[in-house]
Amino acid sequence: MAFKGLIEAVCPKGCEPFETEVWSFVRGDKDAELREILVAQELNLLLCPQCGTAFFPEAPVVYLDSAAELLAFVFPASYREREEYWRGKMGADFAAMRQALGERALVDMEPRIFFGFEELSRLLEEDDYQGEEREVMEFIARDLGLSLYSVSPSYARNNRIPSSLPFVPGSAGATLASVAAGLEKLLGVNAHLESYGAFFEALRRGRHKKLPPSAARGR
Ligand SMILES: [Zn+2]
Repeated sequence: MAFKGLIEAVCPKGCEPFETEVWSFVRGDKDAELREILVAQELNLLLCPQCGTAFFPEAPVVYLDSAAELLAFVFPASYREREEYWRGKMGADFAAMRQALGERALVDMEPRIFFGFEELSRLLEEDDYQGEEREVMEFIARDLGLSLYSVSPSYARNNRIPSSLPFVPGSAGATLASVAAGLEKLLGVNAHLESYGAFFEALRRGRHKKLPPSAARGR
């Protein structure tokens, strides 16, 4: 469901402008290959047919991953000077997208603005790292007979906490106490699960008065 648009690209060396197609909308949850290209910071990287210079065109890209609750408007790095203006533009585009895609797809989603691909690439790499740790955790949790509580992915990302938490099953379901007990069992098996160790420590210090919000959709 990703799509491209035709643009006139202008080489930074001042060569003759040329027409080309670039990605304007990428679904990170539907197209793993495009997501990888974006992480490698090579999405829409063009080569000038005249002088061979590699450059990014002045074309914005919208990146959407519903499962990860991530909606990003990526403007060219050179647009940063007029950040306020582009923030306003993003708000208007987001309203139009909500209408086009249907409200439900974008519920709870707070659009984020980026200038250039570097920062978004780092964010996705961090998501991948957390995802790997989560997989290890879920493997151990299954082994220990623990249940899993899915945290809202955007809440987890913004607050640097795990997006899936183990808990000791019981009639009360996932609670701060059952999650703390689950984490204790988990860390007893593998103490190197960084984000889980940090969250367990935060729980022990009473930094969380209630469970983080759960994921709106199942994974
Ligand atoms: Zn050129």
